[in-house]
Amino acid sequence: MKRKMRILVTGGAGFLGSHLSEYLLKQGHEVAVMDNLLTGRLKNLATLFGNPKFLFIKQDVTQFIHIPGRLDAVLHFASPASPIDYANYPIPTLKVGALGTHKALGLAKEKKAVFMLASTSEVYGDPKVNPQPESYWGNVNPIGPRGVYDEAKRFAEAMAMAYHRVHKIPVRIVRIFNTYGPRMNPTDGRAVPNFASQALKGRPISVYGRGAQTRSLCYVSDLIDGIYRLLMSDVQTPVNVGNPNEISVLELAQLIKKIARSRSRIVFKPLPQDDPQVRRPDISLAKKHLGWSPKVSLEDGLRRTLKYFKEGL
Ligand code: UDP
Repeated sequence: MKRKMRILVTGGAGFLGSHLSEYLLKQGHEVAVMDNLLTGRLKNLATLFGNPKFLFIKQDVTQFIHIPGRLDAVLHFASPASPIDYANYPIPTLKVGALGTHKALGLAKEKKAVFMLASTSEVYGDPKVNPQPESYWGNVNPIGPRGVYDEAKRFAEAMAMAYHRVHKIPVRIVRIFNTYGPRMNPTDGRAVPNFASQALKGRPISVYGRGAQTRSLCYVSDLIDGIYRLLMSDVQTPVNVGNPNEISVLELAQLIKKIARSRSRIVFKPLPQDDPQVRRPDISLAKKHLGWSPKVSLEDGLRRTLKYFKEGL
C-alpha cells in the first residue's frame, strides 16, 4: 500500500464513514466522500469541508459511479446500519449492499484500487456459537426484518470475494461489531443513542425483552484504528473488528444511567423479532495479523459519548 493514497469512502457522511474519512485525512491521504444523505448527515463532515484534500460528492452509490483521476482504494461504507433505519428503508438497504457493492467493485476494478467492504457481525445472525470466529457461517433468517441488512451484507461479501477471485482485485472485508461514540444519530434507535438520550432527558430507559441479550461494544476510535490496520495489511479474508467485552443490555442501560447521573426509570418493552441473543467477537485474527486490540474502556467511551449527546440536546 502506498503511503499517500487517494481514497473514496462511500457512506462517508455516516457515523463510521465520517470518523474514517477524518482519520484518513490525518494520515495524509486524499479523501473523496460519496453519500446520498439518506441516513448520513452533512454535519458529521463539518470539520472536513475546506480541507483541500477533501471532496464531497452527493450521489447514490447504487447508480453508475464515476470519479475523475486516480484512486488507490475504494472503501464501501454506505448503508443504513441501525435496525430502525433498515426497517424504515428495507429496499435501499438491499440495493446499497447488492447493487452499490457491485458498482463500488466495478470502480475499484477500473482504477486498479484496493476494495474494502464494511461488513458486519449481522452476517452471523442470531449466533449459535459465542464468541463468533470468522469461520462461523452464521444463523440468519433471510425473510425476517433484519434479513434485508444481513443478506445484503452476506451478498456483498460473496461479491467481493468473487471479484477478488475472478478479477484479482485486492479486497479487505471488515466485520464490524457494535460500535458507539460521538456522531451517532440520536434518533437511529440503537441501544446507546436511545439509552443516552433517555437518561439525559430523564425519560424512561427502554430495555427490550428482559435485557438479558448481550452485546460487546467497541469505542469508535478503536474501531477506526482496526479498520486502518486492516486496510494497510494484506489480509484478503474477513476479519472481525470489535471489542470482546460482553455485557447484557440491562447492564448497559444501568451503566449509562449511572454515568449520566440520571434518575430515569428502566422500563421493559417487547423484544424485536430475530434480535440476536448473544454477540461477541473472537478477535484472535485481528490480534495476530493486525496487532490490534481495543484500548478504550466502556466507561470512558460512554462518558465521551454522553458528552456529545448532551451538547446536542
Ligand atoms: N435495545 C434496547 N432498547 C433500545 C434499543 C435497543 O433494549 O431502546 C436492545 C436491542 O433489542 C438489542 C440491543 O439493545 O438487543 C442492541 O440493539 P442495537 O439496535 O443497538 O443494535 P443491534 O446490535 O441489535 O444491531
